[in-house]
Amino acid sequence: MDQFRTFNPGEIIFRQGDAGDVAYLIREGEVAIQRQDGDEERVLATLRPGDLFGEMAVIDERPRSATARAVTYTVAMVISAGQFNDRMENLDPLIGNLLQMFMQRLGGGTMVNRSAAGVANEQAESSLRQRAIAKMQQEVELTQALERQEFVLFYQPIIDLDLDEVAGFEALIRWRRPDGRIVPPIDFIEVAEETSLIIPLGKWVLEEAMAGLNRLQRRLDAAGGKRRLFMGINVAARQFGDSDFPRQVASALSESGCEPKRIKLEITENALVRDADQAATQMTACRELGCQVALDDFGTGYSSFGYLARFPIDTMKIDRSFVQDMLTQRRSTAIVRGICGIAKGLEVPLVAEGIETPDHVTALRAMGCEYGQGFLFSRPVGEADAGEYLINYGHK
Ligand code: C2E
Ligand code: CA
Ligand code: CA
Repeated sequence: MDQFRTFNPGEIIFRQGDAGDVAYLIREGEVAIQRQDGDEERVLATLRPGDLFGEMAVIDERPRSATARAVTYTVAMVISAGQFNDRMENLDPLIGNLLQMFMQRLGGGTMVNRSAAGVANEQAESSLRQRAIAKMQQEVELTQALERQEFVLFYQPIIDLDLDEVAGFEALIRWRRPDGRIVPPIDFIEVAEETSLIIPLGKWVLEEAMAGLNRLQRRLDAAGGKRRLFMGINVAARQFGDSDFPRQVASALSESGCEPKRIKLEITENALVRDADQAATQMTACRELGCQVALDDFGTGYSSFGYLARFPIDTMKIDRSFVQDMLTQRRSTAIVRGICGIAKGLEVPLVAEGIETPDHVTALRAMGCEYGQGFLFSRPVGEADAGEYLINYGHK
C-alpha cells in the first residue's frame, strides 16, 4: 500500500514548526531541507532519490525542526507514523536503542532557539537516553551473569488436588547476584526478551530444568515414591518464536534423557499472537518431540477461545488474579468456573495458580480443577528444599 506524493519545483512539502505525521522517501527529484536563521533561509541539506526525510518528527512526535522544499519536480513515498513505528519495533532492540540515542543526540545538538518547550524536551530526551543506557547496561550485566553462572532455578510444587500429591514442579528462574541478593524474573526477563539474550538464557533454563527434574525424580524414587513427576518450563514469546527452538528442546531432551511427555512448555498467548502460523509450526514441532504445551496465564490475554480452537494445547493454567479474587468477587468465581468447564469440555488438564488459602482449594476442587499451585502449598524454593518438600508431602 505504498503511497506517493508529487511536488512541483519550489513547492513546500512541510514547514518548520508543523506537526509531523509522516516521513518521506524520495523516489525522484531533489528536496532542500532549510531552516529560518534570523531573516535568512539557510539550506541544511539537499536530498536526492533514496534519501529519507521528516522521520525525526515522526519518531519523537515533535514539530518539524526544519522546512522541506522541492527543488525540482519530486516524487516521494509517504511513510506514516504507524508504518514507521512498526519498523522500529521490529528492529533489533539494541540497534533501536542506539538509533534512538543517536537521533536524540542529533536533535539536541542542532536545536535552535531553545524555548521552554525545548528545555522540557531536553529533559524528556535525557530521561529517554538514560533509560536506553540503563537497558544496555542491564543487558551487559545479564550476559555476564549468564557466563558466570549466576542464574538458578527455583521450583514450585504443583499439587494433584484429587490425590493430594505432588504431581510436578514449575521451574522459576532467579538471578543470584555475587552479593547474595536474589533478583526475581520480573526485574530481568523483559530486558532479556527485548534482546537476543533470552535465547541462550532460555536454552540454559531448558537444560537445567530437565536436569532438575531428573534429580527430583530420583529423590522421590529413592524415598519409595511411585509417581512420575512433570516439570513446567517457562518459554518466552521471543524464544518460542525462534526457529531454532524445537532443536534446542530436542537436544536438551537427548542430553538429559528426560521423558518428553514429562516436560510441559509453558507459553502465554503472547507467543501465539505474534505470528500464528509460525506458532502453530513450532507447537507441532514441540509436540512431535513428545513434549506437552501449557497455556500460561489463561484469561489475561485476548481471543483466548480462538487460540484454544486452533492450537492443540495440552494443559491450561488459570491466572492467579482470577483465583485470588474468586472467593470475594462473583465475576471472578464465574470466570474460574467457566474456565474449568472449558478445560473439562476440551479434556485438557487445568492448573490453578496463586492458591493461597484452603478455601481456594475447596472451591477449585468442587469446580473440578485437577491441579493447584500457590503459596499455600509452597513458595518457589531451591532444589534441595523442593526435594525435601516432595518426600515429606502428605507426611506432615
Ligand atoms: P508465571 O509463569 O505466571 O509464574 C508464576 C509466578 O507466580 C511466580 O512468580 C510465582 O512465584 C508466583 N506465585 C506462585 N504462587 C503464588 C501465590 O500463591 N501468590 C502469589 N502472589 N504469587 C504466586 P516469579 O517466580 O516471580 O515469576 C514471575 C514470572 O517470570 C513468571 O510468571 C514467568 O512469566 C517469568 N519467568 C519465571 N521463570 C522464567 C523462565 O525461566 N523463563 C521465562 N521466559 N520466564 C520466566
Ligand atoms: Ca508459568
Ligand atoms: Ca502463570
